[in-house]
Amino acid sequence: MCDELHSLRLRAETEGDTVNKKASFSTDVVVGALALFLFLACYANCQTAEPAIGSPAVQAQMYRLYSAAAASYFGQTSVEFSFTVDAAGSPREITSSNERDTNHLLFYPGDRAIVHTHPKGTDPRPSDGDIATAKKCGVPNYELSVSELWVATPDGKYHRVGSVRVKHGVLEVTK
Ligand SMILES: [Zn+2]
Repeated sequence: MCDELHSLRLRAETEGDTVNKKASFSTDVVVGALALFLFLACYANCQTAEPAIGSPAVQAQMYRLYSAAAASYFGQTSVEFSFTVDAAGSPREITSSNERDTNHLLFYPGDRAIVHTHPKGTDPRPSDGDIATAKKCGVPNYELSVSELWVATPDGKYHRVGSVRVKHGVLEVTK
């Protein structure tokens, strides 16, 4: 593509207006492609970059999880909700222990990830128990609070995935 553009430019210099237009059109295409590339690169980077929860099905389930936890995000309950991602990458059903500040989730062999909520008044970061669970199960354990998403990883570390907000029925997570 670069060679083509180069030769068009050379011809434009010698052959006049018609080719000049062609050359500038070609430049527009290149600039447009570059802009698209930068947009996609930014888009990919601004998204969670968390493969275990990146599929549309899991993202949709995270929105449902967030909705289920809405009352807890406003302090009306302290119930935690959760789901796991199965071996095929599909989200399992959302469950809740209906106990205060605790959540006994069902983890099946082969499950790839855990996602659970942290109610208002609790630390958005993973608890010691969350970190232990990530290590024990060998999968990332995500903490979804009203405005943040964190994850405890199987290596015993944790990090902030990003900020959370709901827009037009979609849960957006941005860095
Ligand atoms: Zn937790």
